[in-house]
Amino acid sequence: MQLKTILNRVQKFKSFIYKSVKWSEVSGGIVLLIEIAARSHSRPICSGCGCRRPWYDTMESRQFEFVPLWGIQVFFVYAMRRVDCCRCGVKVERVPWAEGKHTLTTTYMQFLARWAKRLSWQDAARVFKTSWEKVFRSVEWSVQWGLAHRDMSNIHSIGVDEVLWKRGHKYLTVVYQIDRQCKRLLWVGENRTVRTLLRFFREFGKERYGRLQFVCSDMWKPYLKVIAKKAAQAIHVLDRFHIALHMNKAIDEVRAQETREMKAKGLMPILTHSRWCLLKRPENLTANQEIKLADLLRYNLKAVRSYLLKEDFQFFWDYVSPHWAGEFLDRWCKRAMQSRIKPMMKVARMLRSHRELLLNWFRAKKAISSGVMEGLNNKLKLTTRKSYGFRTFRAAEVMLYHTLGDLPEPSYTHRFC
Ligand SMILES: [Zn+2]
Repeated sequence: MQLKTILNRVQKFKSFIYKSVKWSEVSGGIVLLIEIAARSHSRPICSGCGCRRPWYDTMESRQFEFVPLWGIQVFFVYAMRRVDCCRCGVKVERVPWAEGKHTLTTTYMQFLARWAKRLSWQDAARVFKTSWEKVFRSVEWSVQWGLAHRDMSNIHSIGVDEVLWKRGHKYLTVVYQIDRQCKRLLWVGENRTVRTLLRFFREFGKERYGRLQFVCSDMWKPYLKVIAKKAAQAIHVLDRFHIALHMNKAIDEVRAQETREMKAKGLMPILTHSRWCLLKRPENLTANQEIKLADLLRYNLKAVRSYLLKEDFQFFWDYVSPHWAGEFLDRWCKRAMQSRIKPMMKVARMLRSHRELLLNWFRAKKAISSGVMEGLNNKLKLTTRKSYGFRTFRAAEVMLYHTLGDLPEPSYTHRFC
């Protein structure tokens, strides 16, 4: 069997033929050069308008990298023709195996992009003897295709979140779709300002955001402001997961300060190694942590009192009626204020001032599952951790869409991986 036969089986082009296959020695070893020719009498397609136009002239041959075979690099070699287009002028023809100025064939780009989902970009480059840059360009191309072809209808619920990026120096704003039937990343933007989120709404389009029913977010002010303005018809829900984060932050603060105070007074350091006992939910504690917690609870410490307040707040989420949940919230906030523990008072004040948005959780209970934001957030953190080395926002953006965007791919007759 000839290589041409295989090629015609896996990747056949209508108006072109595989003319010859030959070896070529290059500095790094050997490569396969596959010469492509246009069928005689076939008229080239104008890359400007996509119509068949008269042939004008032929340029020097170009190489397009194709999927490697048995570890050997493969290139298509083709001399592009130019067309004389009555609409666009003299233009380079459009070929079915590559787009624009890309030196990689679209098949190879898709191949690399698929592997880049399973491997780090660095590893994908190493395995296929190519550069990080080429892997990035491939993923970028695949993401652009996916974004242009994704289905943006029927989006009823979105979640807005912020993520730390660049080793914790910068923020990204991310918007997810959190409908039951579809959970994915919709949008990524730099920073977490009013402007950032406004940009999302602008790109999302008025018609679409006018149809939103639920918006989930953190208590971050700029987000609240924009959501109130742009999606006023939607029920705005403060996410349970984010409230737990605020609560844990407060406890951490109390514990750290109290430990310092006790140390200064020369008291027994009972709070050391207690961090996770106080932050974890009781059902997630290890046996040792359980013992430690039982021990701690005997003391009348601020950290312990804060812990009990936090645990008590869990009952809030079990309510069904917004009315009774509201009563509970008021009582809880009052107790937190009476505790005189500053970080907990801060949490109470914050919850109080967002009372209505918190109670919206009960109004939206059937539509939004509480774990969805947390799940997406964890997945995203894993991805950003991998992309810490990325210097540019563009690379991080592409990576996030690639791994979390659930984007469609072009379909070909043959799957190379
Ligand atoms: Zn044209």
